[in-house]
Amino acid sequence: MNILDGTLRKATQEHLNAPWSGNKRNFRCGFCGHTFMLNDLWLFLFTNDMPDAPGNPFVCEACYKLFDEDKEKLRAEWKRKWKAQKNDEWWWFHRHEYSTR
Ligand SMILES: [Zn+2]
Repeated sequence: MNILDGTLRKATQEHLNAPWSGNKRNFRCGFCGHTFMLNDLWLFLFTNDMPDAPGNPFVCEACYKLFDEDKEKLRAEWKRKWKAQKNDEWWWFHRHEYSTR
């Protein structure tokens, strides 16, 4: 069983302790920020094939349902989020980058 196969699965203690992206605190939903707990349902969303929206976020059950359990919709939303955070609307969060321009 490959945990990166994109199917919904239950969070185990092993998942909780895994050093996701170098830090087990990164085991959170990429859409709502929910920190996964034991027995939460989650899935891995592959997005690294989209040049404008990398990251391969995790998705919680609530967000999965919110997007009709449709990974293409989730991928589109991930792309939208990436675009949005690069937008000037979010300048405050990137002000250090902006100051070096
Ligand atoms: Zn979520």
